[in-house]
Amino acid sequence: MKKTLITAALPYANGGIHIGHLAGVYIPADIYARYLRLKGENVLFVCGSDEHGVPVTIRAEKEKITVQQVVDKYHHIIDQSFKDFGISFDVYSRTSKPIHYETSQDFFKKLEKNGKLSIENSKQYFDTIKNQFLADKYVAGTCPNCSNPNAYGDQCEKCGSTISPDELINPRSAFNDSPLELKETKHWYLPLDKYENWLKKWILEGHKDDWKNNVLGQCKSWIEQGLRPRAITRDLEWGVPVPAEDADGKVLYVWFDAPIGYISATKDYFLQKDKNDTTFNNNLTWESYWKDKENTRLLHFIGKDNIVFHCIIFPVMLEMYEDYILPENVPANEFLNLEGDKISTSRNWAVWLDEYVKDFPDQQDTLRYVLTANMPEQKDNDFTWKEFQTRNNSELLGTLGNFVNRALVLTEKYFENIVPEKYNLSELDTQMISDIQKVIPKISESLDKFRFREALDFYMEIARISNKYLQDSAPWTLAKNWEENKEKIATTLYLSLQIVANLKILGEPFLPSTSQKISQMLNDNGFTNWSKAGNFDIIPQNHTLGKAFLIFQKIEDKAVETQLEKLIQAKKDNELANFKPDTIKENIGFEDFMKIDLRIATITHAEKAQKSKKLLKLTLDTGVDTRTVMSGIAEYYSPEEIIGKQVTLVANLAPKNINNVESQGMILMAKDANGKLYFVSPTDVVRNGAEVR
Ligand SMILES: [Zn+2]
Repeated sequence: MKKTLITAALPYANGGIHIGHLAGVYIPADIYARYLRLKGENVLFVCGSDEHGVPVTIRAEKEKITVQQVVDKYHHIIDQSFKDFGISFDVYSRTSKPIHYETSQDFFKKLEKNGKLSIENSKQYFDTIKNQFLADKYVAGTCPNCSNPNAYGDQCEKCGSTISPDELINPRSAFNDSPLELKETKHWYLPLDKYENWLKKWILEGHKDDWKNNVLGQCKSWIEQGLRPRAITRDLEWGVPVPAEDADGKVLYVWFDAPIGYISATKDYFLQKDKNDTTFNNNLTWESYWKDKENTRLLHFIGKDNIVFHCIIFPVMLEMYEDYILPENVPANEFLNLEGDKISTSRNWAVWLDEYVKDFPDQQDTLRYVLTANMPEQKDNDFTWKEFQTRNNSELLGTLGNFVNRALVLTEKYFENIVPEKYNLSELDTQMISDIQKVIPKISESLDKFRFREALDFYMEIARISNKYLQDSAPWTLAKNWEENKEKIATTLYLSLQIVANLKILGEPFLPSTSQKISQMLNDNGFTNWSKAGNFDIIPQNHTLGKAFLIFQKIEDKAVETQLEKLIQAKKDNELANFKPDTIKENIGFEDFMKIDLRIATITHAEKAQKSKKLLKLTLDTGVDTRTVMSGIAEYYSPEEIIGKQVTLVANLAPKNINNVESQGMILMAKDANGKLYFVSPTDVVRNGAEVR
């Protein structure tokens, strides 16, 4: 049996972990790792924080702390979330560790020494005030597609298009808005073009039958577009310094050093193990996982945004290095949406794990369950709080929890919590056993193919069969004729307890903390082994059980409503915090300004406009005349509260028909970042008709 090295994408240490990360990468990787361990296979499951790259430096500026403080803070938050949700890494390392610097620099040096890299000079934007080259994200300018004046050199948030810094109109520094200089700089490149044929053969021929379609599709399109050399160094301060001559102020580009993080995390695991575990003598080293091509398989669990790095760039790096194994599979997932909208850290549209744990203590398995049942395996999928509630209440609580609880409570009631004897099996009993035994291999088959949703569904099929079995057997009815039915009841409960033991084993990869709770109730010393699944004599007769308790809690409407409100509020707060005023419009002449007649007027009457939620119909005393003005402020002000208010009126704006009323001018309103409108009023009472200039 081959050893399996499982990697999960290194999360950026610039924020916490949200449900999209969990569903896309960490839950599938964890289910698979736990499944192999239960089968007794040799598994090493590695991950760590990616502490380089521009996002962490941006976060540092946003939070006004140092980059080191940012990565320390988020490394610990992320690490804690993984522990909270039972993600069973053997090691959770970080790319700021010396072992990673050493490993990634050695990697670069060997490729450079063997002539695998190329060097090119190019021109890049240079900030003369900060005296540094700017990363793409730090070049601001006007979007060529939608004219948004606050677009950045990697993308425009307004229209969502991906752009490069040289496409921006009027490029400027995002730090200080100063114009930028184009300056020559030298960088090392990975000549991917030379590996096009190798990749075609390795992926498009070699893995056409075993890789997922969504992964193959992306690889195919990348390769067919033609691969170009990609720079692996950057002019930045934060990162792993380039170990070459004449490379001052240059670091390894984050996508070059991040995947090497899997290798350094493996080394880190053995460093820690050697130090802590004196009994460690099984002769394995980090090289047993990375260089033993015959006996190891490497699997990368990632989201679809990382496919190119793990299927094309990293394998080319490994192939260039020559000693390393290549991934056997890269079962990447698509994206999870939230309430019909894309999950976004920058817009704060997400469910964060550290907050979930506070709001739903001890209910991590519910989230694991819902995210697995809804995993975006082949296409993007949507998470809704309503579905979360329904699945918890009807599937976990109503089916799985209900069965386990009834089996245990009835044993307590009729047999003083001791596993009863098994007598002759009825037709109902044998049918149930054969039904369950048919489902179990399907769970394994699905897991072997990385079809986690399907596997979970088969698991729940067992819970459904069991629930129905207990319902049909109805020991509570039989108990009315105890002497006559005693053996039947004993057999039903004996078998039900065996199903509970099966559910515990088979559920461990999906719902680890639930399995632990069942273990506690069965009082079985935590015994778990996949090969025992399908056996109906796991818990011996006369064994004393632990105390029964409820595994799942009902989720009320109120809890779900609170979550929805929280989401909307967080999004609004974020919009306010990130508000950036538009740039100032072109200059106009003084004469142009003087053409506008601005006057102070008082609102003497206000009413809701007919058939409109937005408009109020105002009557104004301008000191010169009485006017009717239609104003789009009804969402923010009621008619009663604004009567008597002094406002600024554009008095000579040509009349316009609005909602079948002639609006004679316009009142000035200031618009805040969240869209709310405020009156522009004099701070003291002024005579109506006063000119404003
Ligand atoms: Zn745009």
